[in-house]
Amino acid sequence: MTRQLLLLALLAAAPAVAWSAVDCAVEIHGTDQMTFDKAEITVPKACTSFTVTLAHPGQMPKNVMGHNWVLSTQADMQGVLDDGLKAGEAQDYVKPGDTRVLAHTRLIGGGETDSVTLDTRSLKAGTAYSFYCSFPFHSTLMKGTLALGS
Ligand code: ZN
Repeated sequence: MTRQLLLLALLAAAPAVAWSAVDCAVEIHGTDQMTFDKAEITVPKACTSFTVTLAHPGQMPKNVMGHNWVLSTQADMQGVLDDGLKAGEAQDYVKPGDTRVLAHTRLIGGGETDSVTLDTRSLKAGTAYSFYCSFPFHSTLMKGTLALGS
């Protein structure tokens, strides 16, 4: 009981995290070593929205080692990356209005964080989704899969 109360107190102290019976949020780190610390994200089916917080614990600036978190279907990933590259750094390497992009954070550098909340109704069970950093060539290492769970 004491442990549960402590957990509730901790959650109450973090207003950015919406309280729910299931965890409808995840934090992922993009590092100076050009890596994400997660390769898989499962979105609980019970969540109506899901928040992804991207943190960059490194020190390198975003024009050198910038990271964002971009979500699309696996099938759309390469097209999103190609158009993001053309859009350039001024657009955070995401083509404005790209309907293939289901969610994305802004491009951040060392010491920064950004978060994005996605409407889970836009996800279909059984569809393979990919998340990645669209900074040029980072997606060779910085990518993972996202799926709607049970
Ligand atoms: Zn990156």
